[in-house]
Amino acid sequence: MKILKGAEVSAKIKEEVAQIAAGLQEVPKLAIIRVGENPDDISYEKGATKKLTSFGLEVESKVFPGDISDEAFKREFVAINADASVDGILMLRPLPKQINEQDIEKMIDPAKDLDGISPVNIAKVFSGDTSGFAPCTAEAVVCMLKMNDIALSGKRVAVVGRSMVVGRPLSMLLLHENATVTICHSRTANLPEVCREADILAACVGKAAMINHTYVKKDAVVIDVGINVDENGKLCGDVDFADLEGTASAATPVPGGVGGVTTAVTGPGSANVLGGSFVAMKLYGDCIDDMILKYPAAMKCAFGENPKGAYGQNGRKAPVTRMAVAAQLREMLFKAQRYAKEVEAA
Ligand code: NAP
Repeated sequence: MKILKGAEVSAKIKEEVAQIAAGLQEVPKLAIIRVGENPDDISYEKGATKKLTSFGLEVESKVFPGDISDEAFKREFVAINADASVDGILMLRPLPKQINEQDIEKMIDPAKDLDGISPVNIAKVFSGDTSGFAPCTAEAVVCMLKMNDIALSGKRVAVVGRSMVVGRPLSMLLLHENATVTICHSRTANLPEVCREADILAACVGKAAMINHTYVKKDAVVIDVGINVDENGKLCGDVDFADLEGTASAATPVPGGVGGVTTAVTGPGSANVLGGSFVAMKLYGDCIDDMILKYPAAMKCAFGENPKGAYGQNGRKAPVTRMAVAAQLREMLFKAQRYAKEVEAA
């Protein structure tokens, strides 16, 4: 069983973001908003700051006391949201009860909303519009699969969990990749049987080690989103990882899997905003050009008879926003890389 490691995917994203950031005149700045002193939030903030700084981005923490009033927090939030020097915002949730989180979701500038909490970005995820931001965890799962060259188009995927934070947006992103998605939840009848139909199984349940080999089809890929603490106080996922040996072809561990990619995926988004999208477009476009020269046969399979036309038309000249164009080119580059590998292996 192949172990799908978050660190490897994160390193690839780092390379990509560093290249974009290096082409910019100003370093993109991300604000991490934390309310209160929850140790999990502090540890997430530290990890995200270290990772994104190492990507060449600037990170500034905005910390507020846990008992801040709804009114005072909203005042602070409005100022951060409107601050032209802040390109992207990551807000650690849940917020304390006295703050109306739904109001904040509606207030955040969709163009700075790196974790896809704004109704505008959620609508984009559900309608298949790639010009917005998806929730980081859902995005991290798709990234994990794509960067490990795991094909999604035409594959059967079971997503266990239907929360708005993970299960639902993940299902929509997978649908956008042309997977056939089954969304499972606590009322799904015959859950192991339904999961055994899947080529890819994503566990987003929040129940320690619930998914074992009886849920997994032979040679399926298993992605564990869960972050739980077991009876011994040890961090563990929703999947009994060791039990999958001999059944799954690949799986993500916990820790060391999806969690490490969750913060990394905000990197391309934050580098992409403002001027970054021009640099990103050029970077991805140039990489596709190189691929066309190097692997003409594979690119014909990927893009048809006129590979350059395919990306030119869908890419640089299309009347969509720069971020969407950069995102499209990034998608095309993934596709080109996958076909080149398939053709090379054949
Ligand atoms: P959540 O809001 O509690 O949702 C859990 C989902 O699992 C619900 O849809 C629930 O179904 C379903 N479920 C619960 N028990 C089930 C069962 N026995 N059989 C089938 N389905 C069941 O949790 P969440 O926020 O989506 O998070 C899920 C997990 O991901 C948690 O472990 C969380 O810590 C982790 N997480 C990880 C990251 C990361 O960065 N890796 C980020 C966020 C969350 P119903 O809808 O029917 O109740």
